[in-house]
Amino acid sequence: MAGPDSVLVGRSAAASFEVPTTLQKAEPFTLLALAAHAMAIDLFSPATTLDRLVPATVLLLVLGLAGILGWRSRTAAVVRCTVVLTLAFLLTVSGGQDSGDVLLWFFVVVAVYPLVLPTRDSWVLVVAAPVAHLALVPFGAGDGPAAVTIVRAVALGLIAAFVHVGASAYRGAVAQRDGAFDLLDTYSQGSPVGMALWDRELRVRRMNEAFGALLGVPADDQLGRRVQQIVGMPAEVADHLRTVLSSGEAEQGVELVSGDRTFVVSLHPVRSGRDIVAIGGVAVDVSAERAAARALVQASTHDQLTGLPNRALFTERLAAALGQAGRAGQSVAVLFCDVDRFKVVNDSRGHAAGDALLRATAIRLGALVRPQDTVARLGGDEFAVLAPGLSAPQARLLGERICVASRRPLLVGDEWITSTISVGVAVAGGAGGDPVEVLRDADAAMTRAKDAGRDQVAVFDVGLRPPSSEGLEFRASLRRAVDADQIRVAFQPVYRLDALRTATAVDSGSARGAAAALGSDASQIVGFEALARWRGPQGDVSPAVFIPTAEDAGIIGSLGEQVLRQACAAVAGWRLQLDRPLTVAVNLSARQLADPQSVARLGAILAEVGIPPSAVQLEITESVLMADVEGSIRRLSELRELGVTLAVDDFGTGYSSLAYLRDLPIDTLKIDRSFTMRLPGEEAVIGFVVDLARAIGASTVVEGIETAEQLHGVARAGCDVAQGFFLSRPLSADRVPALFAGTHA
Ligand code: C2E
Ligand code: CA
Ligand code: CA
Repeated sequence: MAGPDSVLVGRSAAASFEVPTTLQKAEPFTLLALAAHAMAIDLFSPATTLDRLVPATVLLLVLGLAGILGWRSRTAAVVRCTVVLTLAFLLTVSGGQDSGDVLLWFFVVVAVYPLVLPTRDSWVLVVAAPVAHLALVPFGAGDGPAAVTIVRAVALGLIAAFVHVGASAYRGAVAQRDGAFDLLDTYSQGSPVGMALWDRELRVRRMNEAFGALLGVPADDQLGRRVQQIVGMPAEVADHLRTVLSSGEAEQGVELVSGDRTFVVSLHPVRSGRDIVAIGGVAVDVSAERAAARALVQASTHDQLTGLPNRALFTERLAAALGQAGRAGQSVAVLFCDVDRFKVVNDSRGHAAGDALLRATAIRLGALVRPQDTVARLGGDEFAVLAPGLSAPQARLLGERICVASRRPLLVGDEWITSTISVGVAVAGGAGGDPVEVLRDADAAMTRAKDAGRDQVAVFDVGLRPPSSEGLEFRASLRRAVDADQIRVAFQPVYRLDALRTATAVDSGSARGAAAALGSDASQIVGFEALARWRGPQGDVSPAVFIPTAEDAGIIGSLGEQVLRQACAAVAGWRLQLDRPLTVAVNLSARQLADPQSVARLGAILAEVGIPPSAVQLEITESVLMADVEGSIRRLSELRELGVTLAVDDFGTGYSSLAYLRDLPIDTLKIDRSFTMRLPGEEAVIGFVVDLARAIGASTVVEGIETAEQLHGVARAGCDVAQGFFLSRPLSADRVPALFAGTHA
């Protein structure tokens, strides 16, 4: 153990000493040995001619003991060396025939002191010892003839020189080794890589600043400490060090965490010959790399803007929840949340406002769900909530809470924005749920919520599901249907309200009766709204589902033409038959409005069918108009030149600016179903829209009348015409004539 340990300790112990400590400690014993020698001569050759042996012995003893007790400085060594040489000289000079007995002392001086004195002093001995010996000659004290004494003096000089050179060489080697260690230390201190060295007792022998910094401790303070005693050192390090000691193999790339730092440590055995004398450790800080990797994972699974899980992660969690629910016999609810008219906010108030709205929506949703639920942003203005274990009624309740929360105005910049949310709920129960399918069901329900007037919850029912589970197949069969002219039109009658209004003004009791009877009074029908119908391979599909698909697939143009042609042809026929100026309202999608050719096509169809353009009204939803007001004004003016009238569909749910509304060439405002739904109670709002319409020279249509009370209410509020299930559901063309039976005379 001594060997290996000296490798580790060597430098620190010998660094500042030119003369090895062991030699310094041994040197005073030389004087005790010489004292013993003097005493031996005194005791065993009582007839010696040597004088003053006793005082010499005492002097040697005193100096020797002083050295043993600690007087070991350079001066001490010089003093002792000088004393021995002087005593040797004096005793020899005074010793007569026995002076040869102390010749030994000269040899002791040249053999010992070049080792013990600093290099710069010891060469003096190479000269001083022979000179002191030669000085005996004039006193005739040299042992034997003068020539012998001279040769002996030379021999003394040679021995001194030899020892001096040997000692210097040894010290040079030590200094060189120390220099190498210093260099190594400077190298490791300057390294950005953490380096440390442990001995076999797992004490720190070396540690550079970088290693200390990784642990958050000053490296110098750790020297000599056991690995377990070091603050911040992960506990596993001790185990890894022991493994290296017992196996003799390096431990590579061990990842450790200390506080907020992550670093990779490699430990390797340090050998001297075949023995492991220490363990070297190299540590590299990988905190930044790990943080970047985490950020990358986060970015691939989370949405940047809101920090919410993205669609991929949501689908993954949904799949897991479905699997779990299948095993536990539970249900899983998905709420598909779509911000109403987001595009309008984004376009009219800027992207910053749009982003702020999305972030606020994320926060609101997060506040409404339970900890075990997942809120995700699927993209754009679409969010989804995954709520394991919720039944359909519970999920609807949650959806309604989401709607209520989103109605509260939001402060964005210095403007208040009100934005509602439409929620579609799909609940999957039992085993075998496919996440993509569940999400699509929730999406379809959401579309229905939008269609039904936005700002509400719709729960998925199977009728909403596209007939084919494969979207592409669905699209292909729609395309075939459009190509084969299979899109049909349903007609929802629109009733005049002025008779009711008059009744209302006279007596509200009879007005209620009149309201209840209006649906069966076909004489009050002024026209129809044409609604597209498609019977797919697996039954009827809602236009709320297939119209967006047709837009996507780029076939909305020809689908729209089919609807328009059929609607106009049918109404033209009824106009002739009944001799009444019936009108027809046809819905126009965003794409159709944007298509520059649609005006020409529309003109051609009207001419072909032979219906006066004034009998045709085109309905365009408010959000489409407001998305590009300038473009809308141009397009609407062109359409109007054909002679058709124009209606703003779903009016009141968007962000119509009153200034723009005045500039748009509009004939009718179609009050959205969401206002009708709040009747009785919110007549004032409808009254306000009626006034607004009058102010811009437009008439009003109310949609979604489901009760007599609602009808009574809108009549009182001053609306011109109304439609809704209470008055009549949309009817196929062949059922319309029966409606008029009896009125036609
Ligand atoms: P919309 O233009 O707002 O049409 C009114 C929708 O409300 C129709 O649904 C109609 O059946 C329904 N509705 C009418 N009265 C009531 C009522 O009293 N209560 C309730 N709950 N609903 C009522 P539908 O036929 O499913 O159409 C949905 C949407 O599809 C339409 O909304 C329209 O935006 C679009 N659409 C329908 N046909 C066409 C078309 O030919 N072209 C284009 N571009 N879009 C169409
Ligand atoms: Ca419409
Ligand atoms: Ca509408």
